[in-house]
Amino acid sequence: MFDVLVLGAGPAGLFCALQAASAARSAGRRLTIGVLEKNSGAGRKLLLSGSGRCNLTHTGPAADFYTHYGENGKFLKACLQAFPNTSLTAYFESRGVRLAELENGKVFPESGKSGDVLGVLLRECRESGIEIVHKSPAVALSISQSLFSVKTADRVFAAGSVVIATGGKSYPATGSSGDGYGMAAGLGHRITAPRPALAPVLVKDYLFGGCAGNSLKNSPLFLYRENRIAAKGRGDVLFTHQGLSGPGILDMSRYMKAGDEIRISMTGGSRDENFNREFLSRVSAGGRKKLKAIIASYGLSEAVSVTLLEFCGLSEDAKAAELDSGRRSRLLDALCAMPFIIQSTGGFETAMVTAGGICLAEVNPKTMESHLVPGLFFAGEVLDIDGDTGGYNLQAAFSTGWMAGTGIALRHGNTQIVPSS
Ligand SMILES: Cc1cc2nc3c(=O)[nH]c(=O)nc-3n(C[C@H](O)[C@H](O)[C@H](O)COP(=O)(O)OP(=O)(O)OC[C@H]3O[C@@H](n4cnc5c(N)ncnc54)[C@H](O)[C@@H]3O)c2cc1C
Repeated sequence: MFDVLVLGAGPAGLFCALQAASAARSAGRRLTIGVLEKNSGAGRKLLLSGSGRCNLTHTGPAADFYTHYGENGKFLKACLQAFPNTSLTAYFESRGVRLAELENGKVFPESGKSGDVLGVLLRECRESGIEIVHKSPAVALSISQSLFSVKTADRVFAAGSVVIATGGKSYPATGSSGDGYGMAAGLGHRITAPRPALAPVLVKDYLFGGCAGNSLKNSPLFLYRENRIAAKGRGDVLFTHQGLSGPGILDMSRYMKAGDEIRISMTGGSRDENFNREFLSRVSAGGRKKLKAIIASYGLSEAVSVTLLEFCGLSEDAKAAELDSGRRSRLLDALCAMPFIIQSTGGFETAMVTAGGICLAEVNPKTMESHLVPGLFFAGEVLDIDGDTGGYNLQAAFSTGWMAGTGIALRHGNTQIVPSS
């Protein structure tokens, strides 16, 4: 029997447990808190995050932080206000993790080790008397007379409040395989169909396989569906062996579907009079120069320049003087809006996060408590929230965890939980 049982020892679950303990302590109460974890260790995905370096959060201004979560970001406004990026960095720095801002506002532990972040969470849990029960996947959740019952393979736990913090469905080998959705649905919650997000894309008839590893910096990106713009963005693009990746593509992947067309400005420019004129002056000044050198003068690698020529039906050694008007027009289009048809977006095995999840209309954004089942809380990626790359997903996990922990302490401050006989 626990006052509070958290399902999932990822960043959201652990931080929720810690905040519940701390807020209750401040109010002069002690809560018994347990965390059930499927794996033999906690925070497996947290350890993988940021390629093992853990991009904990972003330094972006509080006022527009929530705009990095697509249409559902508004739900996070209260959480991000109550526990913003500055509170998160202060929490870890005050516990000995030195943080550094790298790469346009992304915050990492200075040591480059995600284990330092997990280490603090686990140490704090031990010191707060929070019991983590490993190798204990929750398989069923029910409620009777205000008391929750959680079944694992060999035990049944009772609790006054339950937090579903089982994560999404991406990288299932880390333990996050979507279990929370079924348990929430069993208690009447609607689930927005989970789908992979922050995923690379495979491209139909891809010509750029030989450019794998090359990237474009901060390129304008346009997503077209049935010849209409479905989304716009900007960001770095990485060419892979079979398609596209990199932060710009990953961030836009939440909007993409097979059959959509991504148009990428390879040069950063748009196909207007200025660009045309400027390109023509480079070509006429080029004369006997190879076209690939003129294209590379826009900051593109030789491999990418040659592939663009191939796309326009020109050989690698084509000279500036050989450019007829038809090919010139095609080349200008490709430089400003190179089209890529999406064959498929990466599945849950390669997606960094899950879009979709617990329907937000049924969750109180100021406490993370269910509107349908008092005492049931949610935290982290199990919710229908997915953020851009850059530390936004971990910040959401910590902020929703903090909010749920505070909500739980409030509930237990006001309510005496008595097990039914
Ligand atoms: C490769 C990779 C790199 C990433 N890098 C970054 C990054 O640098 N910055 C960033 O902001 N985000 C990053 N993310 C995303 C980020 O890691 C997640 O959004 C975040 O971990 C979500 O936290 P969570 O606690 O909600 O869920 P999770 O971290 O998924 O934790 C859920 C926990 O619940 C457990 N669990 C699941 N089902 C059950 C069950 N039935 N019973 C008991 N326990 C259960 C799981 O084993 C797991 O331990 C990355 C993701 C991946 C895959």
